[in-house]
Amino acid sequence: MSSDSAPSLSPQAMANGNDHSMTTTAEKKADVAVDFIDNPDHVPADANIPDNYVSYTLKNQKSLPPVTWDNFTEELNWLHVFILGFTPVLGFIGAYFTHLRWETAVWSVVYYYITGLGITAGYHRLWAHRSYNASRPLQYALALAGAGAVEGSIRWWARGHRAHHRYTDTDLDPYNAHKGLLWSHIGWMIVKPRRKPGVADVSDLSKNEIVRWQHRHYLKLVFIMGVVFPTVVAGLGWGDWKGGYVYAGLLRLVFVHHSTFCVNSLAHWLGEAPFDDKHTPRDHLVTALVTIGEGYHNFHHQFPMDYRNAIKWYQYDPTKWFIWACKKVGLATHLKTFPDNEVRKGQLTMQLKRLRETQELLSWPSDNSHLPVISWESYQTQAKTRPLICIAGFIHDVADFLDEHPGGRHLLMKNIGRDATTAFFGGVYDHSNAAHNLLAMKRVGILHGGAPHGLEDKMIPPSQRLRVARYNEIGASGYSSAAMSDGEGLLG
Ligand SMILES: [Zn+2]
Ligand SMILES: [Zn+2]
Repeated sequence: MSSDSAPSLSPQAMANGNDHSMTTTAEKKADVAVDFIDNPDHVPADANIPDNYVSYTLKNQKSLPPVTWDNFTEELNWLHVFILGFTPVLGFIGAYFTHLRWETAVWSVVYYYITGLGITAGYHRLWAHRSYNASRPLQYALALAGAGAVEGSIRWWARGHRAHHRYTDTDLDPYNAHKGLLWSHIGWMIVKPRRKPGVADVSDLSKNEIVRWQHRHYLKLVFIMGVVFPTVVAGLGWGDWKGGYVYAGLLRLVFVHHSTFCVNSLAHWLGEAPFDDKHTPRDHLVTALVTIGEGYHNFHHQFPMDYRNAIKWYQYDPTKWFIWACKKVGLATHLKTFPDNEVRKGQLTMQLKRLRETQELLSWPSDNSHLPVISWESYQTQAKTRPLICIAGFIHDVADFLDEHPGGRHLLMKNIGRDATTAFFGGVYDHSNAAHNLLAMKRVGILHGGAPHGLEDKMIPPSQRLRVARYNEIGASGYSSAAMSDGEGLLG
């Protein structure tokens, strides 16, 4: 694994770029046959990958050995260990010796949101996903704010994030959630990446002037926006230089780090999957609260180009509100939303899936194809020895219900050996849906010739009229099966 391909928060690695750097890839592949109308010289990084890229790469690309007690000194990314370990230690020690002024407290929270939005509205929704267009001033503001969060350059971050979306839950996903909560939260940065993230094109970002500017000056910008700026605001503003450094600088950074890291960890671990449960992303309010609105991650992985994470107005998504507000003042345009019809289709699919699970937990009447078909005469003969009642073309054995019948035993006894369809459906008493459902559980046979015409809807108990059927079960419900053969005596 080449060192410049390793995802890194380190300015050097970020400045070096990664395996698909801005110009070299295009130059190297200039002789490749694929042409693109908009720019014939440019070949996206993923233009020529084989169709079996994922399985082939996972099988053939070498990955580093697991990190153990024996090799951890070589396998840890010490710069990241230092940044992610030293900042909180220094911050908390500093806080112990520094009085927290209310102005500094307010500023720290405000700057937490500013730098957090740099990541969520900028790095994530604007650059990684292109979910809206931002004017130049807004892009500069987001690039600066994002630098203050000290999470790598836009290009490095977006490249890893695009791989995360494309190869979710595989080893080509840099923060593969299947490797555990700790790994997806911070482990993937603490140790050297075990393998290169899957290929993802970032040529659009390589062409973006502001992204290039931020990448070029990343080290300086991190220092200015991560430390100097929050300190100077508190220092010049209300004379609290030390508090500004400790609270708005260091501790605010710790919170922004772990808040945004939660998008990779908590958002793939906690909550519901209302849109699709194929992969690990989940929706949860708690995740949304700690990630400035990135907590509706199940939705986000389904519709990544959507500028929203939360689709309901009352759900907590300040990043969405920020982008929307930018649109209102003319700083953002072309906010993308996925067609509502398709969003609701995803929801319905999952709802049906849950209903299907409930449906499978319940007992249902015997499938028609498993019931014997008997003639009217046979029915009458057998009804002399056991309490059989015919309703809507089905023969029911009501032996265990004679004393349970709310209308009394005598009403059942009267109909043994007879066709009680009319009596059951309103002639004597218009039975409830529950009664019809229960009746269907007592089916023991089908009357030869089926129910008289016009009674088809009565043959299906209410609980099964809207049942959830898989595509390959439709038409094979058994309810359409007519009495095909005579199975005399099968009931006996
Ligand atoms: Zn994710
Ligand atoms: Zn995303």
